[in-house]
Amino acid sequence: MDTPSVTKRSWAEVNLRLIENNYKAYKSLLSPTGKIIAVVKADAYGHGDVEVCHALARQGANCFAVSNIDEAIRLRINGIVGEIIVLGYTPKDNFSDLEKYDVTQTLIDEKYAQMLFDSGIDVKCQFAIDTGMNRIGIDADNLKHCEAILRKYCKKLRINGIFTHLCVADSVSYDDIEFTKRQLEKFNNLKKHLSDLNLTFSHSLNSAGGLSFFDGGFVRVGILLYGLKPNYKMSLPDGILPALTWKSVISMIKKVRTGESIGYGRSFIANQDMFVATLPTGYGDGYRRDLSDCGYVLVRGEKAKIVGKICMDQMMIDVSEIIRRGTDNLEVGEEVVLIGQSGNSRITADDLANCIGTIGYEIVCGISKRVPRLYING
Ligand SMILES: *Cc1c(COP(=O)(O)O)cnc(C)c1O
Repeated sequence: MDTPSVTKRSWAEVNLRLIENNYKAYKSLLSPTGKIIAVVKADAYGHGDVEVCHALARQGANCFAVSNIDEAIRLRINGIVGEIIVLGYTPKDNFSDLEKYDVTQTLIDEKYAQMLFDSGIDVKCQFAIDTGMNRIGIDADNLKHCEAILRKYCKKLRINGIFTHLCVADSVSYDDIEFTKRQLEKFNNLKKHLSDLNLTFSHSLNSAGGLSFFDGGFVRVGILLYGLKPNYKMSLPDGILPALTWKSVISMIKKVRTGESIGYGRSFIANQDMFVATLPTGYGDGYRRDLSDCGYVLVRGEKAKIVGKICMDQMMIDVSEIIRRGTDNLEVGEEVVLIGQSGNSRITADDLANCIGTIGYEIVCGISKRVPRLYING
């Protein structure tokens, strides 16, 4: 087989072995009874859903969750077997695809369950229960009503489980922990009331929930599989490492003199003579423009600050210190790390997210289609 290659402009290297290791490490934390539903929505958080599913399947994963029917079909067409759950809304027009591709559908509320029943489609489904997120699901606060709906639709549809979603499981504040406990209490209470219905495939825990509130059953894990944190303040469990590296190269190096500006809007003015390198990566590749003022990249293991506004296709970085101290000249074509390890330094998607007040999830999901993914198996 040819060595896989990509254009060395702006590319992401996804280490599938690390994703497998993360799965194994997380699974060992849930040992011996825990079962993992691998959340691979949004192209496996930007890592490549088909490749990630095949890697996880090598470790025994046989249950995957996606956000929509198109993602589910993509997995089936590419040979993914086992359970695939659509966690969100599927339009009525696409109900027949659920049957055709053997996909498990979430029932959003009572109306949606009735609509699926009326369509006459025979598919497995799971009822979403709202325990405090106020997103989708039937309201668990009204236990009697909730139970009645479940009993009614368990007779009409092939429901194999219920699930709820936690909204502050990643927090360490006392109030948030209490809130999560109440969410789980509501969910487990409902499950108890429905114990005769054999809803064995029920689940409530995301990555963070699985770490702090594991109850012996299923967890729906996304972010930790990719080696990122549910919350920047958390530390990752042992053996869980970021699997994606994002690289670019230097396309030009130039001297900028004191008083000159750099980039659109002239937002950066050099207060001393400096060396600036241009990189062929920009917000068109998903490198967030709001990192213009606080972001940095790694060149030969050293931090180089972004100077001026990030453009659609390019950005400029300050390499003055590196050139001043370097023994060799920096070269055009030299690799630069946007996310990942370089020498003894590392930038994670979580670090970049923290700079701009977002979460690592958004950074990796945002790496655009223009950035080819190179898969590494070792
Ligand atoms: C995305 C998602 C998850 C996974 O959450 P992580 O924090 O990435 O583990 C689990 N359940 C639902 C319903 C989701 O939408």
